[in-house]
Amino acid sequence: MKVFKFGGASVKDAAGVRNVADLLQSVGYENTCVIVSAMGKTTNALEEVVKRYFENEDFEKTISGVKEQHITLAKELFENPTDVSNEISQFFDDIVSFLRRNKSPNYSYVYDQVVCCGELISTKIISMYLNSINIKNDWLDVRDYIKTDDTYREGKVNWSLTEQNIKKISPKGLFITQGFLGSDSNFFTTTLGREGSDYSAAIFAYCFNAESMTIWKDVPGVLNADPRYFEETQLLNHISYEEAIELAYYGASVIHPKTLQPLQQKEIPFFVKSFINPTENGTEVAKGEALSPEVPCFILKREQHLVRLSSKDFSFITEDKLSGIFNQLYDYQIKVNLMQNSAISLSLCLEDKYNNLDKFVADMNEAYKVQEENDVLLYTIRHFDDNSDKVVPTEKELLRQTVRETLQIVVKA
Ligand code: ASP
Ligand code: MG
Repeated sequence: MKVFKFGGASVKDAAGVRNVADLLQSVGYENTCVIVSAMGKTTNALEEVVKRYFENEDFEKTISGVKEQHITLAKELFENPTDVSNEISQFFDDIVSFLRRNKSPNYSYVYDQVVCCGELISTKIISMYLNSINIKNDWLDVRDYIKTDDTYREGKVNWSLTEQNIKKISPKGLFITQGFLGSDSNFFTTTLGREGSDYSAAIFAYCFNAESMTIWKDVPGVLNADPRYFEETQLLNHISYEEAIELAYYGASVIHPKTLQPLQQKEIPFFVKSFINPTENGTEVAKGEALSPEVPCFILKREQHLVRLSSKDFSFITEDKLSGIFNQLYDYQIKVNLMQNSAISLSLCLEDKYNNLDKFVADMNEAYKVQEENDVLLYTIRHFDDNSDKVVPTEKELLRQTVRETLQIVVKA
């Protein structure tokens, strides 16, 4: 069995869907499980629906917009789009009636029941289209296979149940199913966290003992730097699992961190390839040497905050104090991307996804002198060499740290 994953950008319009068909023809689709995300920005639009619903604003107009986009796309794809259009309308009408009936005040629960439509409908359209051009396939409802707990929006996978379910699928032919979704023990829909479709693919690859998994992207593979922020980039041909996990940890956005672990456990080779040039090699993540070619890898994290705590009375920042500080950070869900300490000070480069930094700083002000520099940039360079910091605006440097093969520099934005 092979597992393929197509993200939202690869199926954002009719041309994208046709390209998936061409790609399957050119690379083959025998015994292949295809995981697909919602089309384009559909998930964002459905998130907006949920938000409007809870704010008692008109959400039906937003749903109609998403419905129309899908119907327009179907009209471009199918000679006779009536069946597909009906199916699409049914899906979106079901969300409207669900929301009208719903009594649950649980935002995350409602979110999952609504947002899942993006993947359900994208896979329906793609499956029907492929069948219509004689690429025979079966559509699977992934919620019958991937089982999670009831942590809506961040479902934790029940691996043993999921594996049992997936093993029941006869590994023959071509399957189309949804990324990002699962279901809890009551068969309510759950989601696996934003951008979770790569993880879904890895779950299938793991449970099938797949021979490989491929993520099809609009880039030639994993590059040594994000082309949005760095001028010169190079394709990485091979990365070991460990190195890929390190890169993902420091923020390389092409690889979803949760995705790697199941693949690494069973040593399933994982490819990142271009859906524009699908027969090119792309990047292989597998056993073996850390990185080939061996070049520095540049990662930029934005919207970071540098906080320096120093003791007011010149006392040492000892283990008990450190543990207090880190407990607070944990409680506020603030992520520490870099730390450096001396006898009487501790510098932290922080990521504040949940807007708790002000509270943390207020707490710290009681015991420490706090200096804060907001919205700084964190550059991480793996396998750095003497020239590596040339890409960093070092004239605005605030802090620098080297740990073995990793150089990190915090600069003012
Ligand atoms: N459609 C979901 C999202 O946009 C899942 C994914 O794309 O991986 O987050
Ligand atoms: Mg997406």
